[in-house]
Amino acid sequence: MTSNQQSEWVKRSLRSVWHPCTQMQHHETVPLVPVTHGRGVWLYDGDGKRYLDAISSWWVNLFGHANPRINAALKDQLDKLEHAMLAGFTHEPVVQLSERLATLTGNVLGHCFYASDGASAVEIALKMSFHYWRNTGHDDKREFVCLKNSYHGETVGALAVTDVPLFREAYGAMLQQTHVVAAPDARQAREGETAADVARRAARELETLFEQRSDKIAAVIVEPLVQCAAGMAMYDPAYLTEVRALCDRYQVHLIADEIAVGCGRTGTFFACEQAGIWPDFLCLSKGISGGYLPLSLVMTRDAIYQAFYDADVRRGFLHSHSYTGNPLACRAALATLAIFEEDDVLAQNRTRAEGLTAALQPLAGHAQVRHFRRRGMIWAFDAVVDDSQAASTFSRRFFTEGLEQELLLRPIGRTVYLMPPYVLDDEEIALLADKVQTVFAKVMTR
Ligand SMILES: *Cc1c(COP(=O)(O)O)cnc(C)c1O
Repeated sequence: MTSNQQSEWVKRSLRSVWHPCTQMQHHETVPLVPVTHGRGVWLYDGDGKRYLDAISSWWVNLFGHANPRINAALKDQLDKLEHAMLAGFTHEPVVQLSERLATLTGNVLGHCFYASDGASAVEIALKMSFHYWRNTGHDDKREFVCLKNSYHGETVGALAVTDVPLFREAYGAMLQQTHVVAAPDARQAREGETAADVARRAARELETLFEQRSDKIAAVIVEPLVQCAAGMAMYDPAYLTEVRALCDRYQVHLIADEIAVGCGRTGTFFACEQAGIWPDFLCLSKGISGGYLPLSLVMTRDAIYQAFYDADVRRGFLHSHSYTGNPLACRAALATLAIFEEDDVLAQNRTRAEGLTAALQPLAGHAQVRHFRRRGMIWAFDAVVDDSQAASTFSRRFFTEGLEQELLLRPIGRTVYLMPPYVLDDEEIALLADKVQTVFAKVMTR
């Protein structure tokens, strides 16, 4: 592709494609990048320019672009079965995937319900909880609890348990009322407080709410260990342990939204493992298909499944999506899980993470950096910028300067974060650390 052809695609895209999470007018100054192909951690444009995908293409890619093993599995599946409805029919990839995932929870979460995107998985968990209480004679338990700054997706049900003002503002009147309780974000630690202290303090607020209203509350939904869209707000596993105990004591469901933090992102396959707990509903999406195809799912316990199992159709969970349990997406997920096993990915990532953390040390100690932090394969820090540089301007400048340095990064406000695919080699680690520092220096001295 020539440069002329490239800019032609960009023009046509801006005319006909309404891009997600974008004020389209910003593209008058912010570049739109026409990607032609990808390999490993790199994305390429038509000019042969490359970009290191340091945010795994919106947190979905785990084993690099055009991964040979996932490609091979998909090509094989393509010649067998591309899709079949999952009501009344079943197929090998969906059965195998459900069994493998259940095994990873020690069969505590042995029933798997499928959809295509993360927000739909959240909707399913909310509806299942609501319907469970109705089926078991607790019609009053209809309310939901989420954490301050939580993000669970942007469909109307998921947005009701999302506490990001920018995403909610315009739609407030459409949304169901939700209880918002303190988040355990470790950055809130007061003088002498540990992250675990902050976690316990936040859990007390939930306990107070439960004392007053647990008979009206169906479920509490959390992003385990890291509230990603909030700006990579990390917290101590003690919070999850406390919330699990409170949910047991007050008979409230716990929904773990592991859409972003699942699939090894925080260092264990499921983030909940670090707290030694299992939720009542666990949502997965994003990385589960290796970043290849839209796939999401909700795993739940047998006791919940049994409350729907009945001769009466209305007691069943009648929710469905056209592409529920798509065989291609399930095959991509199976290939992804196979890589975890064959390559001992979680152990390899520990080494990778040590390497990148060491290479980022100059930033950790930088005078204009606050709260340098890491959990598993997520790094983040907050830039100290003067008030004249608005958070959104900082983010867009960082993105644009990043592209100049062959780097794909999109800070959340003033929080710069890295969430790279699990295939970075030593050379790419050094390059990534070096370029982040170059971009940071440029944006800070404008
Ligand atoms: C991305 C995300 C979602 C929504 O997933 P979509 O596929 O974008 O609908 C929900 N919860 C969390 C924690 C996420 O990061």
